[in-house]
Amino acid sequence: MSETSHIEALLRRIRPEIRSLSAYQVADAGGRIKLDAMENPFRLPVALRQALASQLAEAELNRYPDPAAVRLTETIRRTLSVPDEAAIVLGNGSDELIQMLAVAVAAPDACLLSFEPGFVMYRMIAEFASLQYVGVPLDEHFRIDMALTRQAIEQHRPALIFIAYPNNPSANLYDEQVIEEIIRLAPGLVILDEAYHPFAQASFLSRLTRYDNLLVMRTVSKLGLAGLRLGLLCGHPALIGEIDKVRLPYNINVLTQVAATFVLDNIDVLDQQAAQIRRQREELLQAMAAMPSLQVFPSQANFILFRVLHGDATAVFERIRDAGVLIKNMKADTGPLAQCLRVTVGSVEENAAFLTALEAALSAT
Ligand SMILES: *Cc1c(COP(=O)(O)O)cnc(C)c1O
Repeated sequence: MSETSHIEALLRRIRPEIRSLSAYQVADAGGRIKLDAMENPFRLPVALRQALASQLAEAELNRYPDPAAVRLTETIRRTLSVPDEAAIVLGNGSDELIQMLAVAVAAPDACLLSFEPGFVMYRMIAEFASLQYVGVPLDEHFRIDMALTRQAIEQHRPALIFIAYPNNPSANLYDEQVIEEIIRLAPGLVILDEAYHPFAQASFLSRLTRYDNLLVMRTVSKLGLAGLRLGLLCGHPALIGEIDKVRLPYNINVLTQVAATFVLDNIDVLDQQAAQIRRQREELLQAMAAMPSLQVFPSQANFILFRVLHGDATAVFERIRDAGVLIKNMKADTGPLAQCLRVTVGSVEENAAFLTALEAALSAT
């Protein structure tokens, strides 16, 4: 058998939906200022880093991690104020929790519903798990269209509804009443993805006890610990217990358990960083709103979505990149994200470099 026909025969074993996917793209910053991935620009203070290093040195790498991550889970419950009645399951990033939820409900007719434009992992993971995916379009202000949503829920009876609160890439919070109506209408689970909670400071966590079908998901990624890979899902203990069954036994490694416990015990440092990012966001919003060739959308997150009104957004993106600042090109010619770019709020210096590059890029069009 020739090499290529053998490989072709093997490739036919891979599901067609998987073969037609393109792999998740992560741009290489190549030494540029990195404002494309909603990372916290700040590292931990040196004294904390040194204390962390000595804790990590004591970690028993020869042993499997605590499969239930008891100490870390207790620290999370206390520092993030998870209600006593709710149970918590941890994931290797919230991406893994989305995958666990999808695997737990996967059945030939099961559906995952979310809103578009939204977080791409909901759709990707629905495809990985062979779930039907329904993306309900948001209106031109990125608000939830309740008439369309009611109709979609009625038609598809989704097992899972994901609501990013605030939404990515639009950075807005949805109306609370609208979300509560969705929770009441939903025949299955509603997951409030509060990845950007440190910058919005609005949450459904305290409403967990009011709705059996509500789950709240958080992550430490945007809070300043993207490198650790740690997310959490909270909700009714019976439901969390079932989700926990599809979790791989040692999904939270020893180093993450030690490091996250230590940093969360010092959460005031991260809270101060988030407060600084919120202040910088307001400065950046103001500076960008003063540029007549941009439409700048409001933000309750650590990033800003904006539209280039004259000229081509890709050309503006490339000029900013060539000036040494990497942001995100939404790559849409039409639709709600037409000519839109997205920038993460960075440090004072990073934001200044971005604004300079943006102004130069706009005046070159
Ligand atoms: C960034 C982001 C996440 C974070 O995922 P992790 O796997 O925890 O890093 C989750 N949800 C949304 C909407 C995001 O934008």
